[in-house]
Amino acid sequence: MLGRVYLVGAGPGDPKLITLRGLECLERAEVVVYDRLAAPELLDRAPAAERIFVGKRPGRHTMTQDEINAVLVEQARAGRRVVRLKGGDPFVFGRGGDEGIALDAAGVSFEVVPGVTSAIAGPSFAGIPVTHRGVASSFAVVTGHEDPTKDGSQIRWDALARGVDTLVFLMGVEHLGEIIANLRRAGRPAEEPVAAIRWATTPEQQVVVGTLVDIEERVQEMGLRAPAVLVVGPVVGLRACLDWRSRLPLAGLRVLVTRARHQASQLSSRLIELGATPIEYPTIEIHAVDDPSVFDAALARIACFGWVVFTSANGVEAVFERLALAGRDARVFGRSKVCAIGPSTADALRKRGIIADWMPQEFLTDAIVAGFRQLDVRGVEVLLARADIAPPALAAGLREQGAVVTEVAAYRTAPAEESRGRLVTLLEQCRIDVVTLTSSSTVRNLIDGLGDRRKLLDGVALACIGPVTAATARELGLGVDLVADEHTIDGLARALTAWASREVQR
Ligand code: SAH
Repeated sequence: MLGRVYLVGAGPGDPKLITLRGLECLERAEVVVYDRLAAPELLDRAPAAERIFVGKRPGRHTMTQDEINAVLVEQARAGRRVVRLKGGDPFVFGRGGDEGIALDAAGVSFEVVPGVTSAIAGPSFAGIPVTHRGVASSFAVVTGHEDPTKDGSQIRWDALARGVDTLVFLMGVEHLGEIIANLRRAGRPAEEPVAAIRWATTPEQQVVVGTLVDIEERVQEMGLRAPAVLVVGPVVGLRACLDWRSRLPLAGLRVLVTRARHQASQLSSRLIELGATPIEYPTIEIHAVDDPSVFDAALARIACFGWVVFTSANGVEAVFERLALAGRDARVFGRSKVCAIGPSTADALRKRGIIADWMPQEFLTDAIVAGFRQLDVRGVEVLLARADIAPPALAAGLREQGAVVTEVAAYRTAPAEESRGRLVTLLEQCRIDVVTLTSSSTVRNLIDGLGDRRKLLDGVALACIGPVTAATARELGLGVDLVADEHTIDGLARALTAWASREVQR
């Protein structure tokens, strides 16, 4: 059987800007052929697929277009569903046409899934519409990098400069000087506004604005390089009213996210929505416990507990994974009541089909202990499924009330070894404004990770999810700048927003 190739536009950079059809193709792909313009997060949407990188890699042979075409044909002939993931739109300077022609010649069936092109989305994310009533009624997308083997220019500078209102150049930063000279020669005025947008739609987006006269100098000053979109025309002026991105409450803030990797995304996406650039630095990793026998024994008699208490979403995941291995499901809880420490734990339970019977008002150990006092647990068996290093206060508090407590380590936390060097470098280069701390163990792991370089945190604001985390940070000699009133990711995001607006006023 012959496979099929899907030429999928990945969108301009932000992984959420792929189309639904593109995502569907990715999720069903058996092979993904990609290069550096496709967002890495998109590859995670095809976890089972083989990945073939065909982009430029320093110090290695770069595949020619013919070689890439050959890979596509070969994979399809092996009967596989192949996604060729391309930045932006496959047919806008994407060589998608070449690939389609090669596939057609080889008799391989293919589908084209259009994408959001950086030529339009890049300007949008800088607050520049490529057309605007009364300002620009046409736009053209032009290559800024003509094939050097071609004789003379294929670009009709004269016609473009005189006949088109907005000019968008892709692959143009390296040739900015020539582009400007050509436009000036063809009659575009010196004061014509120009914007250069690098890594548009990603957290690294950078925008430089100027005129045909000074843009080159400004681009050089800012060190702005490829990949960037250039926009030339009066529409650039609309940015004064339409630059929605730099008006977001956390615009420009670079925020270190210190949660375990698989939990980081929730905080990161909240931060991105608010305009910040999250930098993920997983200080802890979650692992299965080394010896699960105690854990298994507790799970085997889970229905005997009057209450099962979960103090984190990780605990919920660990319990359900262990149950699944034993071929069991949510019904094992029988008539036991279930407590969640806070909304994310309750969410994790809900996803597994369990509605928590009780959740404290405040998402803290003390609040659970106080709450259980009302629930009367004298003589009641309580199971605590927690991390290996969890502090003993919760179990002690419940025992004091007469509960018969069984505490089990459901998962193990370990310091994340990798990426420490990267953190030191970022701090040294002052490329972090705020560090978020979401548990005592992340504080300890951060400090351990920095070792004798902890002074680097002096110039950085520290944001804590709650008073316990803040107390740990202070005990370790750190100055805490803000503590969330509500001890959740949303609460932390709100506290950061309030803090940032105070900082702006200062
Ligand atoms: N098919 C792509 C363009 C590929 S050509 C599309 O439709 O977007 C590669 C050029 O696209 C880069 O040199 C740069 O000019 C532009 N480009 C792609 N992604 C970009 C991004 N996120 N930010 C700025 N420019 C980008």
